[in-house]
Amino acid sequence: MSRQKVIRCAACAGRIKPHHPHIGVEDLETGVEFSYHARASCQKRCVEETVTRLEAGKVFAAHHYHSSRCPDEAPGFGCAAGCFDTPMAVAN
Ligand SMILES: [Zn+2]
Ligand SMILES: [Zn+2]
Repeated sequence: MSRQKVIRCAACAGRIKPHHPHIGVEDLETGVEFSYHARASCQKRCVEETVTRLEAGKVFAAHHYHSSRCPDEAPGFGCAAGCFDTPMAVAN
């Protein structure tokens, strides 16, 4: 069995299964990626923390990782499988 990297949610510290939908916020300077569950409470933390980091002058790229069973190939929210609980509020 190959060893998979354990992804932990930066909001609740819970484990995120790689084949489950989740959000990644990548620091473009360091390449470090913060991961969050797709559920609304973790998304909220994601937005808050990302705003804080943006205010600190960092640059991020957000990635939406869909469920491995999601038929929708377009990135972002509102996919056919409903991977993400609620659309993330625009952070500004
Ligand atoms: Zn979480
Ligand atoms: Zn999806």
